[in-house]
Amino acid sequence: MEVYSEEIQIPTGSGINPVNITEKIQAVARKSGISAGACFVYSMHTTAAVIVNENEPGLLKDIAAKLTHDFPKNAGWEHDRHDNNAHAHLAATYVGISKVVPVEDGKIKLGTWQSIFLLELDGPRTRSVFVQIIGVGESD
Ligand code: ZN
Repeated sequence: MEVYSEEIQIPTGSGINPVNITEKIQAVARKSGISAGACFVYSMHTTAAVIVNENEPGLLKDIAAKLTHDFPKNAGWEHDRHDNNAHAHLAATYVGISKVVPVEDGKIKLGTWQSIFLLELDGPRTRSVFVQIIGVGESD
């Protein structure tokens, strides 16, 4: 069994901003030399999540609208007295900050309409995404 890890840096846009990181994750999978296993995609933040869904602009707007509706800014949240971004922490908590995707034939395995996004919830910032692939190598 082999483990390959890499931390990638992702610049994000303002507010709620999904960034398609599929190709970056695929590049890590290629570099890893692991042919079959599991790929963890993990946001090292409390206000940025990871999602897998369709790269369709309307849907990405819908996701932002739904999160804005469910977790409004300045709604009397306790954490806003600390640094005024409780809405982003809450959204990250409910959406989740990591995903696991399978690795097969040396590539991450995604359905036709699936892409991996870092979902910025309080941008703009530069975010760290830790990618770890565990599996069997080509020589195993
Ligand atoms: Zn905060």
